[in-house]
Amino acid sequence: MALYEKTATELVGLLASGQVTSEEVTKAYAERIKAVDGRVGAFLRVDVDAALAQARGIDERRKRGDKLGRLAGLPVAVKDLLCSHGELTTCASKMLETYRATYDSTVVAKLKAADAVLLGRTNMDEFAMGGSTENSAFQKTRNPWDLERTPGGSSGGAAACVAADEACLSIGTDTGGSIRQPAALCGVTGLKPTYGRVSRYGLVAFASSLDQAGPMARTAEDAALLLEVMAGHDPLDATSIDQPVPEYSKSVREPLKGLTLGLVREHFAAGLDGEVETAVREAVKTYESLGAKVKEVSFPHAKYGVAVYYIIAPCEASSNLARYDGVHYGRRTDEKQLAAELDAERKQLLAAGKKREAEQLDTSLVRLYRKSRAEGFGPEVKRRIMLGTYALSAGYYDAYYLKALKVRRLIRQDYDKAFEQCDLIVGPCTTAPAFKIGEKVDDPLAMYLVDLYTVSANLAGVGGISIPCGFSKAGLPIGLQLQGPPLAEDKLLRAAHMYQTATDWHTRRPKL
Ligand code: GLN
Repeated sequence: MALYEKTATELVGLLASGQVTSEEVTKAYAERIKAVDGRVGAFLRVDVDAALAQARGIDERRKRGDKLGRLAGLPVAVKDLLCSHGELTTCASKMLETYRATYDSTVVAKLKAADAVLLGRTNMDEFAMGGSTENSAFQKTRNPWDLERTPGGSSGGAAACVAADEACLSIGTDTGGSIRQPAALCGVTGLKPTYGRVSRYGLVAFASSLDQAGPMARTAEDAALLLEVMAGHDPLDATSIDQPVPEYSKSVREPLKGLTLGLVREHFAAGLDGEVETAVREAVKTYESLGAKVKEVSFPHAKYGVAVYYIIAPCEASSNLARYDGVHYGRRTDEKQLAAELDAERKQLLAAGKKREAEQLDTSLVRLYRKSRAEGFGPEVKRRIMLGTYALSAGYYDAYYLKALKVRRLIRQDYDKAFEQCDLIVGPCTTAPAFKIGEKVDDPLAMYLVDLYTVSANLAGVGGISIPCGFSKAGLPIGLQLQGPPLAEDKLLRAAHMYQTATDWHTRRPKL
């Protein structure tokens, strides 16, 4: 077995016992990336020299007998919207194409403190808006299981690099499903923590009340290890939860006794692909054979999830993205060209005898903002800004935004009621396996409906995990979603691990 095929847990053991060096592991990934990423396109940037320098530094410290962090010497890939001091942090947007972060996000700072090797930055939908990674301004990422298909999104690069053995751990973010959905479509394990479990400081905001970073890995054990490093209270994020971080990496192996799973009646309705349904029902049987009880639960407001999400997320996005005007933040349009255009417009008006119009031409800063934003943002981001601005404007606020907030509360109550009857909720993660590149990109509604099973967890603020639970006849991975009450990451990981000890879906690899 090649080094790059090992799990993070295995590698941490091999590194700690000195059987392999971080330099060897980092080289193995660098070579793997060189061999396959031309086809997969998971990474926006990989700085092999910088990664090797970090690796050698850690190897030296280990030789000296220094005390090292939890991930010492292990390469980790990071989605390109978490600030890392001095590094480009583009959010896959032209708007931030040249933005170098001036500070570390807390997640990156924690990775550094754990002595991880920062391997590279992964591709995503622009500002995390999308479900296929096709909205990246820079490149397409392909699903390692079928290069004609998308890896899902928005953390498509983060999922694809793990599926393609280009990294064993990566960091994704999830606002409406962006960790779990690409994990499902690429056949890896991805966990969206409870809102507030992981600090959002330095995570470039999309929708602040929904955004959450989390681990992507091949196994629940590995995800537990990474979450343990990432999680925790942070005074720099007022929404982070002040609760101690359990030792997920230890508890993950403890089986759950007396587990009751809730099967959501509304999940098995029209729109669910037959092969996905079969795989999920099989997985539920596996849990039963492991001693779990299964109860049917109802989510009467689940059907409003997508509608509510696509009001609240764009509203928050339109506000968060106002800062990218080419002056405060973001790419500024070419000012010489802007002046020349203005001049040409003025001359044209004068030539047409429109002296007054020429005098009244907009020469303001607004013109600079408008052009900078028109050039810097892609079509989906513009669509979200328009949707959000509309829903927040006077006269519509009550009808859309306020109403959406009320339904959001009802969705949370559905969860509270369900968790009176069961420990975790089990169901499909996506309606269907990976779709073709180009298939939905021109149909925003079809793309939004992909988020049917994932947005509710974000709206309610609870945690969810997707784990591989089978393959379609065409050989595409299928994901099982488990969701838990607030701060039940420990249970989610244990239940996921329990399943992974009884099945081998998560060990299968695409042929690349
Ligand atoms: N697909 C959803 C969207 O486009 C979710 C994105 C995310 O979680 N970042 O908004």
